Amino acid sequence: MRYSHRTCRRALFKSGLPGLDYSLNPYFGCEHGCLYCYSPSIFRDEWVARNWGRFSIAKLNIHQVLEAELRSRKRGVVGIGTVTDPYQPHEAKLGLTRKCIEILLRGGLHPSIQTKSDLVMRDMDLAHPGLLDLGVTITTMDGWLAKRLEPKAPSPDARAKALEEFSMKGIETWVFFGPAIPTLNDGEEEIKSIAKLAKLTGSEIIYDKLNIKPFVMERLAPLLHELGANPERIRMLSEESEQYRRDLYKRIYSICRELGVKAKPAFEHPMSG
Ligand code: SF4
Repeated sequence: MRYSHRTCRRALFKSGLPGLDYSLNPYFGCEHGCLYCYSPSIFRDEWVARNWGRFSIAKLNIHQVLEAELRSRKRGVVGIGTVTDPYQPHEAKLGLTRKCIEILLRGGLHPSIQTKSDLVMRDMDLAHPGLLDLGVTITTMDGWLAKRLEPKAPSPDARAKALEEFSMKGIETWVFFGPAIPTLNDGEEEIKSIAKLAKLTGSEIIYDKLNIKPFVMERLAPLLHELGANPERIRMLSEESEQYRRDLYKRIYSICRELGVKAKPAFEHPMSG
């Protein structure tokens, strides 16, 4: 794992993601190294894509840049960790995400955090109801599968614990269930176990299917082969089958409805239904 740092010139970027006004990412690169991650495709750089999960570059001055930017920014919701995990291990030492959250809260902006790490519990003292929300990504409650799909990310149980702690404090929480990968984690039982966690913590579920951007299949294929799944079929179902998407979304919706859990797709699909 290569750790390094650099300075940045901007902290906040306008966001086109649903519910967000801005995005903020204190790190470039992500140590969690999830096989399905499509963040590298944003940078359109082969080295970055091939080495994703092996480097983490901290934007060491991001909190100072943010402080200066807030003088001229309108208030709004700031998505923290839209491209890389804000609580990856590098953060334990540097505390950049924490500093940014403190500045945003002081400036009256609303941090909306998304992570796979229970390191977020370190910053519980900053969390007060109505001032920020926390989303935890859970692709599966099966610890073995999670370890294979998300090699360096904390276990699903550790993530669930973080969700429970924030929820008990009255913080708005949500579960990001995604990507749903055909035959791996899109079955009824898998979805039910995640929905039960959402129910327990009063969280909404936001879900998404697998998005096969460049290099994603290259990284996933060895595991798919090992598990006896057919990468080409998975690619076809995820990318081309409207029927698969409909069935998946219906399955999630009806499981959540049965349990009384709110659920919505991460991205409204023109043919949602
Ligand atoms: S935690 Fe998120 S950003 Fe990091 S590798 Fe996994 S999917 Fe990508």
